[in-house]
Amino acid sequence: MSDVQSNRSGDSPAPRGRVDAVVVGAGFAGLYMLYRLRRLGLSVRVYEAGGGVGGTWYWNRYPGARCDIASMDYSYSFSPELQQEWTWTERYATQPEILRYLEHVADRFELRAHIQLRTRVTAAAFDEATDRWVIRTDDGASVSAGFLIMATGCLSAAKVPDLEGLEAFRGERYHTSHWPHGGVDFTGKRVGVIGTGSSGVQVIPAIAEQAARLFVFQRTPCFSVPARNAPLEAAYESRMKANYAEHRQRARETRAGVIMDVDPRSALEVPPEERERAYQARWEQGGTGFLATFSDVMRSREANETAAEFVRSRIRATVRDPDVAEALSPRGYPLGTRRLCVDTGYYETFNRENVTLVDVKASPIEEITKAGLRTRSAEYALDSLVLATGFDAMTGALTRIELRGRGGEPLTARWADGPRTYLGVAIAGFPNLFTITGPGSPSVFSNAIVSIEQHVEWIAECIAYLRERGFACIEATAEAEEGWVAHANEVAEGTLYPLASSWYVGANIPGKPRVLMPYAGGVGAYRKRCEAVAAQGYEGFSLSRAG
Ligand code: NAP
Repeated sequence: MSDVQSNRSGDSPAPRGRVDAVVVGAGFAGLYMLYRLRRLGLSVRVYEAGGGVGGTWYWNRYPGARCDIASMDYSYSFSPELQQEWTWTERYATQPEILRYLEHVADRFELRAHIQLRTRVTAAAFDEATDRWVIRTDDGASVSAGFLIMATGCLSAAKVPDLEGLEAFRGERYHTSHWPHGGVDFTGKRVGVIGTGSSGVQVIPAIAEQAARLFVFQRTPCFSVPARNAPLEAAYESRMKANYAEHRQRARETRAGVIMDVDPRSALEVPPEERERAYQARWEQGGTGFLATFSDVMRSREANETAAEFVRSRIRATVRDPDVAEALSPRGYPLGTRRLCVDTGYYETFNRENVTLVDVKASPIEEITKAGLRTRSAEYALDSLVLATGFDAMTGALTRIELRGRGGEPLTARWADGPRTYLGVAIAGFPNLFTITGPGSPSVFSNAIVSIEQHVEWIAECIAYLRERGFACIEATAEAEEGWVAHANEVAEGTLYPLASSWYVGANIPGKPRVLMPYAGGVGAYRKRCEAVAAQGYEGFSLSRAG
C-alpha cells in the first residue's frame, strides 16, 4: 500500500490507509518530525492544509512580513551540512526567503513524497481496541495511525473579530495570516488596518508606502523596538559558520533559545543617566535584545517601567504630532508582557501625510459598513480592509480539530478551563498523541526553532524507545499532568506576564479561560526536565504493550 500522495487527486477520496504515524502540518515542526520518523523507518503521512510546505511562512505573506529572530538562529541546526550550505541574505529574513529555505529543506531531505497537501485534518479519535488513532480529513478519507503528532503551530488559527457588518463590506478584505499569493496592489486605495500587534506593525509601513490613504485602527498601543535590519555581513556569517555547533549548543541552554547579552545588574541600581545610555545602546542595536538591557526588566514592575518609559520617550522623539505620539504610547501593562514588536519605520509612518491613527479604544468600532468603517464618533470610507487581528493562539489549532481521546472524550471538554498538558507535549487521556510546542512548553517564549527541534527529537527518541521495547502505547498520567500544570502556574505567577491582557493568556479570544499558556521556566531548564523524564524510562507516563 502506498502511504503517500503528493496531492489530492480531483474529487476521489483518498484510500483508507494505515501508517505508523500521522503528522499534522508541514511547517518547521512537521517537516523535521517527518524527517526524524522516516529515519526511524516509520511509514508517515503528513497532512497539510496549505498548497505547499512552510506553515506560518506559507500563509503569512503580507507585505513587510519577516522574522524578528536573527536568520542564522531562526533555522534548523539538525543538519551541519544544511546550515553550512544555506546562505541568508539579511539579518532578519523575509517571509519569501524563509519559505524558500523550507522548500529547499523539503527537497533536500526528500520529504515531499510523504506530504499530502491541500488536506485539512478535521477529526481524530483514539480507538482503545487497537491503541491506534483514526484520523479524518476534509476530503472524506480516513487513515489509521499508531501515533498522531500535532505540528499545527502556535499561531496558525486566525482570529477574525466579531465585528458587526463585517460580511457586508463591499471592498476587499484581507487577514494578514491568509494573504493572497499574488500579492495585493493598494495603489490609489483608501485602506483601513485593524490591529497593531507584530503583524500590524510590519504591514502598516509597507501599505503606507502604496496606499492613497491609510487609516490605522488601534485599540491597544504596542511597544515596538527597531529591527535595524541589514544585509548579512559576510564576516559575521563566516564567524557564525565556523562555530555553528557550539553557538547552537549555547543557545539551547539559554532561557529563550537565543544568546543574549544580559546585563546582570538591576535597572534600578544604576544611575538614571547610565540607564538611559544603556537603553539607547540597545535601541541602536535593534531587536528583542532590548529586553535584556537589565536582568530585572521582565521581573520587576518598577525596573520594567524604566524601559517602558524609555520607549515612550523614543515615540515622542519620533512622532511629530504630540497627540499622535501620546496615542501610540502604551500604558497600563509592562513592556514585554504582550509580545514585544520589532519594526522597520513603524513610528515614523505616523508622520506621513497619508496616514491617520484612529484610537478605537477612545471611540470603539461600532460597525463595518458596506463602504467602510464606523466608530462611535466618525465614519471612514475604505476600499480595502486589512485585519491584522491575530490568532487563537496555542490551543486554537488543536481545538478546531475534533480530537477525541479515551472514552471518546473531546479535547475541548478536557480543556474547558484552559489547556492542561504534561510538559506541553502530551495530554492525559490522549495516548500516543504528541503536541509539538504545545501549551505548557516554552514554545512562543523562545526561538521557536530551538523548541521545535527539542520536541521533535524528544518525541522521535520516545517512539524509538517504545518500538525497541515492544510497547504499543504511551500516555501521560493524570498525576504527572496535574503536577506539571501546577508547576507551570507557579512559575507564571513569579513573572509579570499575568499583568497583561495578551494572547499569551488567551485574553484576545472572548470566553477563553485566562491561563498563561506558554511555560515561562526557560528552554534550558525545560530541556533538562524533559531529558530527565526520558532517562527515568518516561517518568510520569504509563507504557503498555499491545492488548
Ligand atoms: P496580535 O499580537 O494578537 O495583535 C492583534 C491586534 O489586533 C491587536 O492590536 C488587537 O488589539 C487588534 N484587534 C483584534 N481584534 C480587534 C477588534 N475587534 N477591534 C480592534 N482591534 C482588534 O496578532 P499579530 O499581530 O498577528 O501577532 C501575533 C503573534 O504572531 C505575535 O505576537 C508574534 O508572536 C507572531 N508574529 C511574529 C512576527 C515576527 O516575527 N516579526 C510577525 C507577526 C506575528 P487588542 O490588543 O486591543 O486586542
